Amino acid sequence: MSSTLIQGGTVVSASGTLDADVLVQGEKITAVLPREPNVAISATADRVIDATGRYLLPGGIDVHTHMEMPFGGTSSADTFETGTRAAAWGGTTTIIDFAVQAKGTSLLATLDKWHAKADGNCAIDYGFHMIMSDVNDTTLKEMDACVAAGVNSFKMFMAYPGVFYVTDGEILLAMQQAARLGATICMHAENGIAIDQLVAQAIAAGRTDPVNHGLTRPPELEGEATARAITLAKITSCPLYLVHLSARHALEAVAEARDTGQNVFAETCPQYLYLSLDDLARPDFEGAKFVCSPPLRPKEHQDSLWRGLRSNDLSVVSTDHCPFCFKDQKQLGRGDFAKIPNGIPGVEHRMDLLHAGVAAGQLTLSRWVEVTSTTPARMFGLYPRKGVIAAGSDADIVIYDPRARQTLSAATHHMNVDYSAYEGVEITGRVATTLSRGRVVIDDGAYQGDPGHGVFLPRGVNQYLL
Ligand SMILES: [Zn+2]
Repeated sequence: MSSTLIQGGTVVSASGTLDADVLVQGEKITAVLPREPNVAISATADRVIDATGRYLLPGGIDVHTHMEMPFGGTSSADTFETGTRAAAWGGTTTIIDFAVQAKGTSLLATLDKWHAKADGNCAIDYGFHMIMSDVNDTTLKEMDACVAAGVNSFKMFMAYPGVFYVTDGEILLAMQQAARLGATICMHAENGIAIDQLVAQAIAAGRTDPVNHGLTRPPELEGEATARAITLAKITSCPLYLVHLSARHALEAVAEARDTGQNVFAETCPQYLYLSLDDLARPDFEGAKFVCSPPLRPKEHQDSLWRGLRSNDLSVVSTDHCPFCFKDQKQLGRGDFAKIPNGIPGVEHRMDLLHAGVAAGQLTLSRWVEVTSTTPARMFGLYPRKGVIAAGSDADIVIYDPRARQTLSAATHHMNVDYSAYEGVEITGRVATTLSRGRVVIDDGAYQGDPGHGVFLPRGVNQYLL
């Protein structure tokens, strides 16, 4: 078994920092050694990596990605191969992607299909959530088998009528079943029935530019749906995780539920912390690059979200990575914003963008690690295998240079998409080296991984349940 000693760095964890050397043997971390001249160990290690002046982070965990996902007659532009490679470039060593049940099909057949897409193609480890678009006796029973197969979380949509939308009654049934199984329901909370009426009115009135995507999905309708989901979760005693929370109204509902001790959790995404309705309003159809759902909000929501991250009403930052090329895919919605494929590329830049939040004084170093790695691991049943640098954990380690400068751009990113939502943005901090289960995947500006390295991660129970 080969051994690697990472020397001279500062280990950052959810609870603090420690100047320490980290010993890796095979796929596991075997020791975190307080800084002494670890001469004897470095003499026997097969490889010594100098991490002087750098942070050692537990590998990032992005619990919300959509690789090669079918949407509106097209498919998201990153495959599991290109998307996980881009993730590794940005210091993410685990993704949890979504298997998407098409109406009328079985959950287990869906899971097989997603295994076939990912198996042998991922540069880093991966798990799945299951998107349930059909709730019936068969699929409710299949939830059991999904949990047994390591898929312990189910996503449902209160938006997209005719596609993924499920009724409140269906949500109730799935929540009852999830509660019995100790599984978590992940919710896309927007009132899609009301939104579709506003969309139809806008199109009929000739308001077809991308900005109308934001204007027809007001934050109040995210707040309303969030509160409704929380109520349904309460009466079914079901753990609820709100995905991609974007609006102050929704955050208030989450905070209130958490204050009463309910098992309610929420994530936000970098685009809601940094981008706004102003980007959706960019001229010449440029706004289409920023179409995602929920939509980017007016800037004043951003302060609330940062505050929510500090107060733990927002526990996780994921990306909702769902890239569509501007040239061929976003153009489907020219003249009709409702036909613009929904999604923004982001899997590569989550760690960097949140480090920018550290540099700006919005988050502490520890909180950065907590919301991007440790809490996601606990929330989705991967801890302590993932989410921490400790003896016995997988050697998913990011060596991060906090002083390096980089400029985000489509010309230099590794996601398979022809634009960047952060084109020209300058960031302080950059990944120097990424290890996935002891294997160097990224080092010094070069990709050294391979598409078969990543393995499927069966997941256990949410570790935050009260
Ligand atoms: Zn999503």
